[in-house]
Amino acid sequence: MTINNQYPEAFTERIKALLPDDYDVFMQTLDGVSPTSIRINELKPTGKFATEESITWCATGKYLNERPSFTFDPLFHAGAYYVQEASSMFLEEVWKQLGLGTQPVKVLDLCAAPGGKSTHLLSLMSKDSLLVTNEVIPNRNKTLQQNIIKWGYANCIITQNKPEDFAGLQNYFDVILIDAPCSGEGLFRKDRDAIEEWSEKNVEMCSLRQKDIVKHAAACLKPGGHLIYSTCTYEPVENDENIAWMQQLGLHSIAIDISAYPGITKTIYGCQFYPHRIKGEGFYIAALKKEGPSTNYTAPPVNHKKVQALSPALQSYIQHPETFVELTKNDFIFAMPLWMMNDFAILEKRLYIRNAGILAGSIKGKDFLPAHDLALNNNIRKDVPSVELNEEEAITYLRCETPKVKSEHLGWCLATYQGLNLGWMKLMPGRLNNYFPKDWRILKRA
Ligand code: SAM
Repeated sequence: MTINNQYPEAFTERIKALLPDDYDVFMQTLDGVSPTSIRINELKPTGKFATEESITWCATGKYLNERPSFTFDPLFHAGAYYVQEASSMFLEEVWKQLGLGTQPVKVLDLCAAPGGKSTHLLSLMSKDSLLVTNEVIPNRNKTLQQNIIKWGYANCIITQNKPEDFAGLQNYFDVILIDAPCSGEGLFRKDRDAIEEWSEKNVEMCSLRQKDIVKHAAACLKPGGHLIYSTCTYEPVENDENIAWMQQLGLHSIAIDISAYPGITKTIYGCQFYPHRIKGEGFYIAALKKEGPSTNYTAPPVNHKKVQALSPALQSYIQHPETFVELTKNDFIFAMPLWMMNDFAILEKRLYIRNAGILAGSIKGKDFLPAHDLALNNNIRKDVPSVELNEEEAITYLRCETPKVKSEHLGWCLATYQGLNLGWMKLMPGRLNNYFPKDWRILKRA
């Protein structure tokens, strides 16, 4: 069949060995259209997509009948939802089966960009849990920052480090997610470039790199803590065989019950998603627990004299200011939940931190300039002045152009759409300055 000619022969041979009975159906599915799916942000409810088909393993996941232009939806820019492939959302079921989500935990998402699973983790974690979300590649880290900022949570620290840089954090995290860089076979339908990049040599290289990442991560996991490992490939050498190898690191695999989800394939250690059996892309996920008596990371005590309450400028922007502390780094002012301070002090000594808590703003001359992060964060006060824009005005605003708005208010003001914050404007008599970040603006023409 011609459909098979576009795939490397070594790949189709491997799939035949994995799926001897339904190889043809699988290959035909690869030639079809990828389902479009999104995950709703419960912090920013709008009712949009409420009636769309639900994804059974994710309470906030929805399949869309067609792919709308997300770029031209102001709610997308406000962080009301995240566009994510459905199989990946099975992280939620694994999280629940591990009994996580009710107690405070320290979570590391080691390979995090663009942020699909990190934004999902923020929604699943208790609000007094800390997410350290890490991406080593600078450009990808910028995208991660953008997506985390849009999601609106303050209990997050964004780092840009190699896995080995976490060496000083032995036994620190309760949960580590490794959504490993992989040979990407599960994306062949969605991303045709992934086919070009595939080779047997690359599969082997990915498998070795994954082991290296896991080796560094395992040392940072608390005994009794959980490692969640996932890829978007079908290769056993990147999936089950890696999990088998992990047992020598003192990690024991935990079975995930998939009886409620016909279509998901149980492998020796994990769950495999094939696109001809479920409505989603190729994906693999497994869970492990680190053996050993429970220990706590012992850290040098934090100098609490350095802790500073929020200044009056920030108090006028942030809800419950008494629960936050203020930090100044290179002219930027951050507001961080007080309970995160100890962890921040520990992490700051060892890692390259790109964002922590809420980037609230900066001082220019005598003025406080509020940052975009603050506008999109859920901890912003509800009484900050705002101007509601219609769809056309919102798109103009998101292009960094000047919408025509009528307001009595002068000074800093939020641009909102359907009640959700889009960013800052400064209103002056007869003039408006648009403070939407230039590098986030809509460039595309309709
Ligand atoms: N978890 C992300 C999500 O849900 O949106 C997707 C992660 S993607 C599969 C893997 C990430 O690992 C990429 O962003 C890539 O830049 C990063 N990466 C590549 N090489 C790495 C390495 N040696 N160590 C850690 N991360 C690496």
